[in-house]
Amino acid sequence: MPVTVVVGAQWGDEGKGRVIDYLAARADMVIRFQGGDNAGHTVVNDYGRWVLHLIPCGIFYPHVYNLLGAGTVINLDTVSEEMAALAAAGVSVDNLWIDRRAHLIWPYHRLLDGAEEDRRKRAAGAGGEAMGTTRRGIGPVYADKHAYSGIRVGDLLYPDLLRQRLELLLPIKNRELAFYGLKPFTVEQLAALGARWREEYGIRIVDGLPVVRDAVRGGKRVLLEGQLGIGRDINWGIYPYTTASSPTAGGACEGAGIPPRAIDQVLGVVKAYSTSVGGGPFPTELHDDQGVMLQEIGREFGATTRRPRRCGWFDGVAIGYASWLNGFTGIAVTKLDVLDHFVTLELCTGYRLGATVLDYVPDTMLQGQVEPVYETWPGWLTDTSGCRTWQELPPAAQAYLRRIEELAGAPIRFVSVGPERSQIIVCEVRS
Ligand code: GDP
Repeated sequence: MPVTVVVGAQWGDEGKGRVIDYLAARADMVIRFQGGDNAGHTVVNDYGRWVLHLIPCGIFYPHVYNLLGAGTVINLDTVSEEMAALAAAGVSVDNLWIDRRAHLIWPYHRLLDGAEEDRRKRAAGAGGEAMGTTRRGIGPVYADKHAYSGIRVGDLLYPDLLRQRLELLLPIKNRELAFYGLKPFTVEQLAALGARWREEYGIRIVDGLPVVRDAVRGGKRVLLEGQLGIGRDINWGIYPYTTASSPTAGGACEGAGIPPRAIDQVLGVVKAYSTSVGGGPFPTELHDDQGVMLQEIGREFGATTRRPRRCGWFDGVAIGYASWLNGFTGIAVTKLDVLDHFVTLELCTGYRLGATVLDYVPDTMLQGQVEPVYETWPGWLTDTSGCRTWQELPPAAQAYLRRIEELAGAPIRFVSVGPERSQIIVCEVRS
């Protein structure tokens, strides 16, 4: 493994949590490198079913050093809730650390996020449209970060500096809140919150750089945990229906503080069909019974928000695009078992746009206009949930997976056939 990036190859919810949970058994360090508590990674293991919003999925292994990396944005109250729930179930949280360069989500970020989403919804039809944000303050906190108006986790350690930052920044934030008719915050209120956070988290705040550098130099096995998927990338996703960071292998280097040349493996996590939650174009979306089947059998409802996910056929164009942008060295195909009930499967291999067929994902506006070009594959109508080797998979499932592999241009390393830790097939590397 030594340094392996695990990223979502679609629009998020691919099953990264379960893949990281599996790989973390043999890892020394797991670093979450971007995003905040706006999505959940589901892990089903001996401790039960968990949805981790922020805490890295390596937390279940006491030998793993879990780091919330510099590229993340952190609501420490969410971390508290997750830590308390884990501790109550007997999971040690002593192995959780937070990089001092990560940015803090303050209550005003959440309020501004929700108020702006509401404003866009109200303006729908008049040039506006809801973005589908989760209202966790992610857009506003990354906007502040890039406008040099953020407050970082490490700032909590210096109460005088924190107060000065709040005095400088709060008048502007309060004007924004007033624009939405929301009540202002006082410096006292937020300084008190900062003091509480310092008391609770002071000992977990570290400079991740020397720790990560020494781990990588020492050949330790490091896993980089991405959130969401390339379809939500700030540059390459369906902007503006994206997140505010880069859930890619490139984003991993930046957010974890690891140089690109130190990355050994890039594992793309790929659902055996497509889902997308929130707004924006989704070329292979199904609006018929088959879409409902995928949603119901796949239990496609958001881990954080419970929002129903839009469902569609596998999109080979999007996978090729994800593979190019991330440089996949392998893929993990998840939720194959959900397809056990389909007589035939459609697989998108191109986007028809006017007289041409594109083999890449175009910009958002054009993406809304493309027509998928499909191949039809036979289903297998066999229960795969008990399969534990490639050979046990029905031939039609093997053929479908091989086509996905071809479109991804990277070998399949894992296939999952159920949410449990054991429901995974490790694939031999073929020469
Ligand atoms: P993540 O954010 O990428 O980790 O994905 P989510 O946690 O949002 O969603 C994945 C969902 O699929 C979770 O409910 C998982 O328990 C479930 N899941 C993961 N792998 C499989 C699988 O192979 N089969 C089935 N049926 N469910 C799976």
